[in-house]
This record gives sequence, structure tokens and C-alpha cells, in this order.
Amino acid sequence: MAAITIEKIEKSFGATPVLRDVSLDIADGEFVTLLGPSGCGKSTLLRILAGLEVQTGGSIAIGERVVDGVRPKRRDVAMVFQSYALYPHMTVQENMAVPLRMRRLSSIQRLPLIGRFLPGTKAVGAEIEKDVMRTAKALGIGHLLGRKPGQLSGGQRQRVAVGRAMVRQPAVFLMDEPLSNLDAKLRVQMRAEIKELHDRLGVTFVYVTHDQSEAMTMSDRVAVMLDGELLQVASPREIYADPDDRRVAEFIGSPK
Ligand code: ADP
Ligand code: MG
Repeated sequence: MAAITIEKIEKSFGATPVLRDVSLDIADGEFVTLLGPSGCGKSTLLRILAGLEVQTGGSIAIGERVVDGVRPKRRDVAMVFQSYALYPHMTVQENMAVPLRMRRLSSIQRLPLIGRFLPGTKAVGAEIEKDVMRTAKALGIGHLLGRKPGQLSGGQRQRVAVGRAMVRQPAVFLMDEPLSNLDAKLRVQMRAEIKELHDRLGVTFVYVTHDQSEAMTMSDRVAVMLDGELLQVASPREIYADPDDRRVAEFIGSPK
């Protein structure tokens, strides 16, 4: 079963085409990286997968389910952004609890009679706290739960952002240049951590970067994008050894 089926996706902003006829099948548990220069449409494609942007043509399925028109919260995906997007006034614990609160409370609140008496019940709160703690420990940030984002290093903030995506235990992780705000040394270290996380969770990752060495070291397959088109989708080794066309060879061969 394909975890993600991307079929003939088109996207224009006004009259400007940004994605052209993008099709890609991603297998359950695969780590696929969208690699291409800035402006080629990587984030737009990822945002369409997340439901944050609506395509102008084509269709997306996650698992067996066509998700066109399905809101982000109703998709079994979690997104990690380059900017972390943590709430500065909340503690790490509160930041990580946000997705769980949204999901658990809204499902309780949908019960017509009991719902209105239950927002923030103790039972739900305790369960959320336990899930947050388990995730935080797994990422080595259990001791940081009481801090605010401003009191964390870049690497710690990045772990919190990953943790916040993880607490929901999504079937699919979408990561948009999650390491680009970190210094070079930490970036290499975090690569290994994300890869390890992928191996441990066994879920599907769609990872976006413009950094070749990141793509080549982390991915099962790399999807090379240029000007809104997918040029080649293959294993890192194949992309190096056997580029499909001159544009792939140029991009891969060029320094940076
Ligand atoms: P990448 O992530 O590969 O750098 P993006 O997907 O962010 O590329 O952008 C692809 C193209 O679409 C760029 O030319 C960008 O300017 C344009 N674009 C992205 N978002 C919008 C938007 N909301 N409105 C108009 N143009 C956009
Ligand atoms: Mg981008």
C-alpha cells in the first residue's frame, strides 16, 4: 500500500504556475526528500500534502484515503517548519501539548451533551501530560519541559518542534528545511537524530531541503525538483551515478 500518492498535481498562484504535473508514489515507511534550489516549489508541494495549500489540479491520497479538500487537522500528518513556529509565551510542555489538546478536546466537545461540561477535564489533562513526557524523554528534552522557547538553544528548539509533531503519533512526518537555522556542526548531528527517529518510528517521512548532502545522506529516495517539475526520483546513489538529464547532473554536480 502506498503511504502517499501524489497524482498530477498542478499549482498556480494567480497566473504563475508553481507546480507542473507532479506525480510521486511514496511507500509506507519510506524517507523521501524533495531536493531543489530555492523557489522550485518544494514548500508548496509539502504544504499541499499537509492541507495548508490547495492544489489547482490533481489529487493526493494518504494511505487509501483521498484527502483533497480535507483540513490539515483531519489528515494523519504532522509538519515541522524551518522556523520552529513555537509559541514564545508557552513552556515546552505547553507547546508540545497543543496538538493533543486540539485533538482530544475537540473529540470530546463533539459529544453534544457532555461536551460542554468537559473542556480541560483532569483525565484528559493527565493523559496529555503523560504523552508529552514520554515524547520529551525519547528526544532527550524531558528536563526542558518547564522552559520557554527563549531559554533554549537552537538545537533544543528544533527538538521541541519535532517533539510537538511527534506527540500525535502521525503516520506521516512532513519536514520543511527543519535544520536550516542551525549551525553547521549541529546540522550534521541533527541529521543523524532525525534519521534515527525515522528508523525507530518506522513511519513515512517527506523531507524538504536545498542541501544536497543532507538529501543524499538521509534519504531512501531523492526527488529532484526544478522550476515546479519533478526531474528524477531515485536512490541517492542512482541520482549521482545515473542522472536522468543534464539539469539533474548540473544541479547535483554544482557546488552547493
Ligand atoms: P521552495 O520551497 O522550493 O523555495 P516555494 O514552494 O516556497 O519554493 O515557492 C515556489 C514559487 O511559488 C516561488 O516562486 C514563490 O515565490 C511562489 N510562491 C510561494 N507561495 C506563494 C504565495 N502564497 N503566493 C504567491 N506566490 C507564491
Ligand atoms: Mg521552501
